[in-house]
Amino acid sequence: LPSKLPQVGTTIFTVMSKMASDHGAINLSQGFPSFNCYPFLMDLVNQYMRDGYNQYAPMSGVPILKQRIAEKTLISFGLSIDPEKEVTVVSGATEAIFSAVTAVVCPGDEVILLEPSYDSYAPAVELSGGIPVYVPLSLPDFSVDWDRVSAAITEKTRLIMVNTPHNPCGYVWTKEDLDNLASLIQDRDIYVVSDEVYEYITFDGRPHLPLMSHPLLRERTFTCGSFGKTFHVTGWKIGYCIAPPVLTEAFRKIHQFVTFSTATPLQYALAEFLMEPSRYESLSDFYQQKRDLFCGGLKKTAFEFTPAQGSFFQLVSYGHLSQASDYALSVKMCQEVGVACIPVSVFYHDKQDHKLLRFCFAKDDELLEKALGLLQGLD
Ligand code: PMP
Ligand code: GLN
Repeated sequence: LPSKLPQVGTTIFTVMSKMASDHGAINLSQGFPSFNCYPFLMDLVNQYMRDGYNQYAPMSGVPILKQRIAEKTLISFGLSIDPEKEVTVVSGATEAIFSAVTAVVCPGDEVILLEPSYDSYAPAVELSGGIPVYVPLSLPDFSVDWDRVSAAITEKTRLIMVNTPHNPCGYVWTKEDLDNLASLIQDRDIYVVSDEVYEYITFDGRPHLPLMSHPLLRERTFTCGSFGKTFHVTGWKIGYCIAPPVLTEAFRKIHQFVTFSTATPLQYALAEFLMEPSRYESLSDFYQQKRDLFCGGLKKTAFEFTPAQGSFFQLVSYGHLSQASDYALSVKMCQEVGVACIPVSVFYHDKQDHKLLRFCFAKDDELLEKALGLLQGLD
């Protein structure tokens, strides 16, 4: 069969998680927590299933969940949104990204991707006939080089993909980044898909700034969120897209034919769980302790690193130790050291190798300590 994505194989997350399991390695590769969600949340799902909430949900989401998403957006970021006209519940942020890109991109449209970038963006663009235009983030801190973004914009640019806090780099956008993006697109017909799945995971008191907190970006942005990250349930595949009414209408036209709707009992359970803001507002503190534990241990290894500003990933650099490719080193670490990680070159379209590895620290402390012990044994 002719492939619609000829350059794409099986995702690195699937490959590395399988390799970790085959070799009994500690899996710090694929981004998912090693611990469970709150028992109360599971009880709620169970309760709603038993109470008969087991048939199709409304296409755009159950009203009470859309309302709670709007409430949390107001509580956390001071932003008012209309739950009925601006919120759509989806089956994971991956679906939100895919449906938003599909809603906007027509064949021949150019889409700016800041690299390294999450693996699902470019395929979504290409399946709509769009042309990814890659702009590298600036090493070593992975900040946005606004001159390069500006130089990449043409008459054909239709969309820019943003990810803050960033996977894999942990960079968190600043007010200046928002202002720069707004001034670049204000006189052009350019939209934004903002992947904010790590919105509740920022460190050292740094605030997460939703793109929609900027008045101009508010009008142009599809914001993608995921309950998988916020409530430790990545396997539930449930998230949301927030966008102004006109964009939401376009989004729902696609969403209704991608999944149509999202698991009903999960929606009711999450709506009830969201009533207590501390359940999401406490997440940065929860992960800050894990980031600090992991970085504290990394100091006793030969790796170099700068602590992540957000997300649950930590990058380390090893170019001063070895000239091995990051892919080869990841395989070796998994098979011989017993710790699986992700080579950062997979987040570049041309597999640029900056000798960086990504570790996920959304793991139990004991597991992190065990992994650190193995990494400390390396030289
Ligand atoms: N965007 C980023 C940056 C991610 O890291 C992930 C998943 N880990 C997703 C999107 C996908 O989220 P979901 O599992 O809700 O589809
Ligand atoms: N987003 C997760 C990561 O970056 C992986 C999700 C997936 O496996 N598709 O590790």
